[in-house]
Amino acid sequence: MRPRVAVVGAGAAGLMAAIHAARRGQCGPVVALDGARTLGAKILVSGGGRCNVTHHAVDESAFAGSTRLAIRKVLRRFDVARTVEFFADLGVALKREETGKLFPVSDRARTVLDAVLRAARESGVGVRHPWRVESIERADGAFLLRSASGERREADRVVLAPGGCSLPKTGSDGHGYAIARSLGHSITPRVFPGLVPLTLPRDHPLCALSGLSVPVRMEVRSASGRRLTQVEGSLLCTHFGLSGPAALDISRYWIDARFDDPGAALVARWLPAITPDALDAALRGLGPRTPGSLLENWLPDRLVRVLCALAGVDAGRPGHRLTRPERKALARAVLEMPLPVTGDRGFGYAEVTAGGVPLAELRLETMESRVCRGLYLCGEICDVDGRIGGFNFQWAWASGYVAGVSVGAC
Ligand SMILES: Cc1cc2nc3c(=O)[nH]c(=O)nc-3n(C[C@H](O)[C@H](O)[C@H](O)COP(=O)(O)OP(=O)(O)OC[C@H]3O[C@@H](n4cnc5c(N)ncnc54)[C@H](O)[C@@H]3O)c2cc1C
Repeated sequence: MRPRVAVVGAGAAGLMAAIHAARRGQCGPVVALDGARTLGAKILVSGGGRCNVTHHAVDESAFAGSTRLAIRKVLRRFDVARTVEFFADLGVALKREETGKLFPVSDRARTVLDAVLRAARESGVGVRHPWRVESIERADGAFLLRSASGERREADRVVLAPGGCSLPKTGSDGHGYAIARSLGHSITPRVFPGLVPLTLPRDHPLCALSGLSVPVRMEVRSASGRRLTQVEGSLLCTHFGLSGPAALDISRYWIDARFDDPGAALVARWLPAITPDALDAALRGLGPRTPGSLLENWLPDRLVRVLCALAGVDAGRPGHRLTRPERKALARAVLEMPLPVTGDRGFGYAEVTAGGVPLAELRLETMESRVCRGLYLCGEICDVDGRIGGFNFQWAWASGYVAGVSVGAC
C-alpha cells in the first residue's frame, strides 16, 4: 500500500506534522523522508545545545514576514500551554527561565529530539533517511516523489516541511523552495538570513572588545534618519562585529531595510534610559570629575574608553574643560553611535530564514496549499520568522500540528 501521507523533512515541523497525522489514524501510513544522515541536527544545536523549545509569552508581534493576523491564526491553534502539555505527555518536562524562555529540565536538546522521534515511531510514522526529495510531481491525482538517487515513492498527500536555508549543513539547504515553486507556489522576492550575526570593519574599535556583553537599544534608521525598528537586549561584541540577542533580533530588519534603502543604518544607544538632555546636563555638571568616571558608573570601562576615543574626547579630562562640541560628540557616541555594519555572516550562521512561501497561499485552518490540492506546508519554509527566545520552534510546533491534524483527517 502506498503511504497516504508523505512528510518531506523530519525537523521540528515535519515530525510534529507526522506525529499528529499518524495519531489521527484516519489516513493510511505516514512516512517522513529526510535527506540528512543524522536526524534532528538543528534541534540538537538549538539553544546552545539545550533547545529553547518555546517562550512563555508567544504572540504574533514576535514574528515578521507574513501578516500578523495570518500568523496569529496558526499560533492560536496550538499555543504555548499545548506545547508544554505535548512535551509533558512525551515525558519531557519544561522549565521557564527568567528571560521567559522554556527549556527541557534536563538542559539537553537530545531529550527533546529523542522524545519526538520516539513519539513518531510509537504513532506508526515510518522515518526514512537519508532520503532527500529531489522532486515532487503530480501524477494521476497522487504525488510522485523522487530521490536524488532515483528512488520513487507515491503518496496521496504531501506535507512539505524542508525548512529554509539556515545552517544548510543540517540538511535545510533551500531546495524546498524549488520544490514548492514546481508545485505552483511563489516564494517571496527576498529570502535572507535572520537572527544572524553582523560584521563590522575588522579595525572597528568594538571588535577589540570581543567577549564584552552589554545591554543596549539598537535602532534601524532610514537614510533620512527616521527610526524604522528598535530592539533592546544584550549586545555581544565579537572579533568580527556584533552578536548576542539584540544584534540577532535586529539583523533581519537591518538587512530588509537595506534592500529598499541602501542608506539605512544601524545605531546603538548604550544608555537607553538616559535622554540626550540629561546626559548633557550630567556632563556639564561634572566640575573637576572626568567624563570617563561618569560613564563608568553605568558602562564597562573598556567600552567607555572606546566611546570617548570615538568621540575624540580624553576620558580623563576634567569635565569643566569639555567644550560644547566635545560634549555633543560624546553624547552622540553614547546615545546614537552609528554602527558601520559591512554585512552579515550568512546562512551558515543564521538561526532562521526570512522570506519563503507567503501564508496568503495557504488555507490557514489546515495549512493546505491554495494552489495545489493535497499539499500542506509548515515550519520555516513559510514566510514567517520569529525573534530569538523559542518563537521559531513555537511556529514549527504550531504550524506542524495544524498541517498534521488536517492531513491526517482524510
Ligand atoms: C544554531 C541554531 C539554533 C537555534 N536555536 C533555536 C532555539 O533555541 N529556539 C527556537 O525556537 N529556534 C531555534 N532555532 C530555529 C529553529 O531551529 C528552526 O526555526 C526550526 O528548526 C525550523 O523547523 P523546520 O522543521 O521548519 O525546519 P528544519 O529544522 O530546518 O528541518 C527541515 C528538515 O528537512 C530536511 N530536508 C530539507 N530539504 C529536504 C529534501 N529536499 N528532502 C528531504 N528532506 C529535506 C532537513 O534535512 C531537515 O531535517 C535555531 C536555529 C539554529 C540554526
